[in-house]
Amino acid sequence: MTVLVTGGAGYIGAHVVRLLQERGDSVVVVDDLSSGIAEHVGSAALVHLDLSTQEAVDKLEGILNEYSVDAVIHIAAKKQVGESAERPAWYYAQNVGGFSHLLQAMQNAGVDKMMFSSSAATYGLPNLPPGQLLTEDTAPNPISPYGETKLVCEWMMRAAGKAWGLRGVGLRYFNVAGAGWPELGDPAVMNLIPIALKALTSGRQPVIFGQDYPTEDGTCIRDYIHVLDLAEAHLKALDYLGRDDRPYDIFNVGTGTGSSVLDVLKQLAASTGYDLQPTIAGRRPGDPAALVADVSRIQDVLGWKFTRGLAEMTDSAWEAWAPVHGAPAVLPASAG
Ligand code: UDP
Repeated sequence: MTVLVTGGAGYIGAHVVRLLQERGDSVVVVDDLSSGIAEHVGSAALVHLDLSTQEAVDKLEGILNEYSVDAVIHIAAKKQVGESAERPAWYYAQNVGGFSHLLQAMQNAGVDKMMFSSSAATYGLPNLPPGQLLTEDTAPNPISPYGETKLVCEWMMRAAGKAWGLRGVGLRYFNVAGAGWPELGDPAVMNLIPIALKALTSGRQPVIFGQDYPTEDGTCIRDYIHVLDLAEAHLKALDYLGRDDRPYDIFNVGTGTGSSVLDVLKQLAASTGYDLQPTIAGRRPGDPAALVADVSRIQDVLGWKFTRGLAEMTDSAWEAWAPVHGAPAVLPASAG
């Protein structure tokens, strides 16, 4: 089949593109290259386009027709929570505007299958008893414009299903980490593992945002998912769109197991050999104590399950980071 991947030059998109190509699908990528890297799409066709521009509807329709696209995987989006709070109108224009243009183009071109990258940010600060997992039926309540845009897009996808028969499926990503191939590591330094790696290779110790949470070690708990497992979930979601029986349109993608910030940093120390002595800082505003996915729906319905654990995430993140960022600035513990 032929698949259009928006954001296919980005961190997650490039993994999806490579897996699609490995299984023999034809891939065309649309990316504005604001954070993506053109070389990461391999032999896929690459169209440089900002989905939020008015001209995008016609251009996308042309691409869908020219390549006889069967299905769209829509990953392209802005994803910085803090930035979204500072520039909400722009975030809506980018994420919701871009989504709207894509939907219009798909309807015009008669392409009726879409997988959409959603986020655990749609849940906001869930008020769950300790240890309780987030199911897809947990009421969404985003607390950032970023999370709001993801939820609105889910709604738009659903509405298009009712209006003109779009087959849509949204994957709510939890905390994505690691690299499937060393050259496809996360180039952004926006999440815990890259931030900690950057600190270490710059001669600083990582900072923990709060150790007074109601968790076992006092640090926040998240559900970290290997980017290659996540990419595999996209392929399962595509297959699901071809099925006649599709009872759900939203799936969590995580492992069902939480790791604390300290757990992650300890694992990172093991992967890198650094002597990690993190600094404890105050809480970061808007951080829920724990966010862990209930993954029974995606396991039962899509037949997908993670296979890679935290050690594979920190090992592969380090393997991708080290060659690019040079010699360690903090001496590994083993080196004295
Ligand atoms: N975090 C931290 N220090 C950092 C970066 C992140 O302690 O330098 C914590 C953050 O407070 C959260 C967890 O690591 O509890 C994951 O944060 P990240 O920004 O990677 O993802 P989020 O869960 O916020 O989407």
